[in-house]
Amino acid sequence: MATFKSIRIDKTEGGTTAAYADFDDADLMDGDVTVRVTHSTVNYKDGLAITGRSPVVRRFPMIPGIDFAGVVEASQNVGFKPGDQVVLTGWGVGETHLGGYAHRARVKGDWLVPLPAGLSAAQAMAIGTAGFTAALCVMALERHGLKPADGPAVVTGAAGGVGSVALALLAKAGWHVMASTGRPEEGDYLRGLGAVEIIERKELSEKGRPLGKERWAAGVDSVGSQTLANLLAQTKYNGAIAACGLAQGMDLPASVAPFILRGVALLGVDSVMCPKPRRIEAWGRLARDLDGTKLAAMTTTIGFGEVIDTAHAILDGKVRGRVVVDMDGK
Ligand code: NDP
Repeated sequence: MATFKSIRIDKTEGGTTAAYADFDDADLMDGDVTVRVTHSTVNYKDGLAITGRSPVVRRFPMIPGIDFAGVVEASQNVGFKPGDQVVLTGWGVGETHLGGYAHRARVKGDWLVPLPAGLSAAQAMAIGTAGFTAALCVMALERHGLKPADGPAVVTGAAGGVGSVALALLAKAGWHVMASTGRPEEGDYLRGLGAVEIIERKELSEKGRPLGKERWAAGVDSVGSQTLANLLAQTKYNGAIAACGLAQGMDLPASVAPFILRGVALLGVDSVMCPKPRRIEAWGRLARDLDGTKLAAMTTTIGFGEVIDTAHAILDGKVRGRVVVDMDGK
């Protein structure tokens, strides 16, 4: 009977527990491709799953880990053969389907994306769900017709994972980027990624007016709540905000004023069920436009044994940029 190391979440009377445990190969869920996981990452949602702070896990026992990169071991899918390098983000992996914090994963081949040319497995996980979502946000703004000549772009939660990648991609595309952060000590880091102006988080996170001075044409928001309301209220005529996150909260205490008086658009972005053609486009964009030096600057590498501690740290806002999990590391 083959077993491999994993993180396992079990349901208890008072909630859930997460611990390192051996997992039996025979207990893996159905799928037509088996992958040896070499790298994973820690996203905000992984923090929610491991700590049990939000009910993102909907099957028990669960192996958390909403994304992974690795090498195909076995495949009944015509699109993949043993030895292929692959990346997975979303599709409920780590929530309803056994996930990436394990040395082996079995999934539907349709969920996998070939490792994009020019990226290593470690770099793909340095990007991970957070960076992939940042690319989807930037693409949504562009599809809306916005361009750097329209005015500045604002990024909230800028020192976080989505924020750091969004900042680097927008700067590369020529935008004047305003970065909002609650960590002013990360000013040099954010300027290094391409921020031209730094805004203090509290300027946006507290209750504001339904309409304010027009400050930006575009925005990427991973924070939600009052911050998103203030972002909308200060967006220029015909501008748009791409909203993907809830680090401040799930509520949206906004008025319709920006929509009906300034034609502002709110663009919702979901990475989990994103269709495959758009996934391929986003990964291609990341491989082409995300500067390797900037990606390295925003990345910390940890061993598999450090995932549970890091899951707690990310919810406490103590993780800067992105985290790569080396599955063979301690
Ligand atoms: P991180 O923890 O890396 O980044 C979140 C950042 O938000 C923090 O670094 C911090 O930035 C800021 N922040 C934290 N708490 C607060 C608060 N109370 N008020 C205002 N700002 C706060 O997480 P990720 O980048 O991985 O994810 C960010 C969000 O995006 C999460 O809510 C996540 O669930 C969501 N998400 C959604 C996806 C989708 O498909 N829609 C996919 C990926 C992520 P700073 O210190 O700079 O202020």
